[in-house]
Amino acid sequence: MLIKSAEFVCSNTDVRQLPAPQLPEYAFIGRSNVGKSSLINAMTRRKGLAKTSQKPGKTQLINHFIMNEDWYLVDLPGYGFAQTSKKNRSEWEKFIRAYLTKRENLQCIFVLIDSRHEPQKIDVDFCCWLGEQGLPFLLVFTKADKQSAVKTDQNVAKFRKALLKFFEEVPQHFITSSELKTGTDEILAAIHEVNLN
Ligand code: GDP
Repeated sequence: MLIKSAEFVCSNTDVRQLPAPQLPEYAFIGRSNVGKSSLINAMTRRKGLAKTSQKPGKTQLINHFIMNEDWYLVDLPGYGFAQTSKKNRSEWEKFIRAYLTKRENLQCIFVLIDSRHEPQKIDVDFCCWLGEQGLPFLLVFTKADKQSAVKTDQNVAKFRKALLKFFEEVPQHFITSSELKTGTDEILAAIHEVNLN
């Protein structure tokens, strides 16, 4: 799928103020600093669409972007940032869980995982929670250019194995680099496919 137009629509701190749910929606989420903004920019080929490297844990916003006037790309606030209080964290949970469980037009959640690391409990726990809720998700491994392809594949395999303890089937994954703009067309193709069905 070619992104012909990509526009910022709105930022919200309240799930009651989200745009009307009349278009299919795809959400992107992951640990703070996982490379989510860079991936959104690489995927849409728009340099400054999502802001990169904001100080984590400051503003908890749900950002809606409209793609090709046809579907919403949703940038969700990152989890697992170190510099935040417990109160902040539980606010995040309430806010995001409300969004993820109640948004009727949400088609799929892309969970971003830093491909440089061994499986992190926070990412595995988050995927398990999505599974428990019956929410459809796919895995996106980021920053693949930072190490050898062999190392990336090893970390991907370890993560999939960690999920297999909890899931009968582990969802499809994508290996991406925003630096090299790899793996992003495959994500767009997956979105296109879901949109057709
Ligand atoms: P966010 O907090 O998840 O939105 O993460 P950002 O997109 O702001 O990225 C965090 C840092 O990782 C920034 O310094 C980015 O330049 C860097 N980064 C993100 N994606 C990649 C990537 O694919 N390759 C490399 N080498 N660096 C990346």
